[in-house]
Amino acid sequence: MSQQFSYFSPGPAKIPDEVLSGLQEDLLQYKDTHISILEVSHRSKEFTNIIEACEKVVRKLLKVPDNYRMLFMQGGATGQFAAVPLNLLARTGKADYIITGTWSEKAAKEASKFGEVRQVKLDNTEPCKGDKFSPFNDTEASYVYYCSNETVHGVEIQAIPKVPAGVPIVCDMSSNFFTRPVDVAKFGMIYGGAQKNIGTPGTTLVIVREDLLGSPLPSCPAILDYTLLDKNKSVYNTPATFPTHVMKEVLEWVSRHGGVEEMERRCIQKSSLLYSIIDQSNSFYSTQVHPTKRSRVNVVFRVGAGGGNEATEKKFVDEAMQQGLLSLKGHRSVGGIRASLYNAITLDDTRRLAHFMETFLKENY
Ligand code: PMP
Repeated sequence: MSQQFSYFSPGPAKIPDEVLSGLQEDLLQYKDTHISILEVSHRSKEFTNIIEACEKVVRKLLKVPDNYRMLFMQGGATGQFAAVPLNLLARTGKADYIITGTWSEKAAKEASKFGEVRQVKLDNTEPCKGDKFSPFNDTEASYVYYCSNETVHGVEIQAIPKVPAGVPIVCDMSSNFFTRPVDVAKFGMIYGGAQKNIGTPGTTLVIVREDLLGSPLPSCPAILDYTLLDKNKSVYNTPATFPTHVMKEVLEWVSRHGGVEEMERRCIQKSSLLYSIIDQSNSFYSTQVHPTKRSRVNVVFRVGAGGGNEATEKKFVDEAMQQGLLSLKGHRSVGGIRASLYNAITLDDTRRLAHFMETFLKENY
């Protein structure tokens, strides 16, 4: 019997097998065009159909209200760290950032190049309390920014911050986009890079309320200008055609498999399996993240008594790899282990990892 492989990468991450098979055909010939999907022009009717179909499935899955526009942008989520202030900071010149980990911190640092940024850092070992999650009470900020899932630290914020009326909320959903329903109307803007739950690197999906368009900072480059991109239906210049196609295919797969409601059910089921092993391991496996903030998509933990040790973690990663459980090493800045359980990871993949964790515990405790 050939060895099974499960790929727990934080991104670029696994793409559903069903989608990969379709892409294989598209690479050789896209529909009846006699050319590869890689060669399709961004001005062709085929690509127009792709981008429209992608927008349609996004609207359906997230029930996006009509007064929100959709943009397909390049520059990754990191590009949005600059694009957000460049497009949304003009009202007051100030923005508020809630810091929960690496990615919100990087976003705040980038924004501070363009205006005045206030930051409040949350302690992830504490529960997510409503009062803690409404740290800004005045209307001085042009927007309040947070990241709903910190991929490096394994921190997922379930609540939406409470903000004063009229202040839009901006959210980086890169790593938990389409893993759960989202009440889009509560946000001014949400965005996410594709390479975790919705495809392959190269395109970033931005969903922005239309009244927030129209006032970019004068220094905003054309490529990051939401208003300009919106006017040009995301085809101002040559967009990332293939990643947009992949996004459409992946989201149609999500739709065929029960939508974001079913993805959420699966994410809870998969992550609970691993967290219950961590909690019952007598601290051999450990996580500092408060249970109310544990990520359902990036399970981050240490291995070894006393909060983990590098030698045991190396052994864990090496032995897991020999068993076909790939890409479990934690981010270099925090160490330890990270199992990313995005939508394309099946319950079977997760069960194989859970079984490995139980065996490793017995053999090394
Ligand atoms: N935000 C989050 C939550 C992320 O996980 C990442 C990438 N891991 C980024 C932003 C940066 O994304 P990119 O590499 O596409 O710029």
